[in-house]
Amino acid sequence: MSHNEDLEEKKLLGSGGYVFAKLTEKEELKANLGVPQIFLSNVRRLSEDRFTKYYCNKCTKEYPGSPTISYENPNEELGQGVILIEKGEYRCRTCNNIIAFYRKFNK
Ligand SMILES: [Zn+2]
Repeated sequence: MSHNEDLEEKKLLGSGGYVFAKLTEKEELKANLGVPQIFLSNVRRLSEDRFTKYYCNKCTKEYPGSPTISYENPNEELGQGVILIEKGEYRCRTCNNIIAFYRKFNK
């Protein structure tokens, strides 16, 4: 990882919990959409080494490290030129609860 990149630890909210992850300023701006909260679904996929800890609503417990990240690239045509490029999920390593999920479209 480049030392020029200024990574800052942020709290990112998901539907089933929250995570703490290190973001660049650019990623943060892209994800917060003008509100004080940052949503993990807006950041989409981050590599596991960016996560410091996560909280699972179902376990009501905080865990060190990253949730399990899984994703697929269906490249599914949804009509009117919209293509679903990627869909992914962040899940609790202990109970498999979905912490957050995201969708990435071509536009
Ligand atoms: Zn859990």
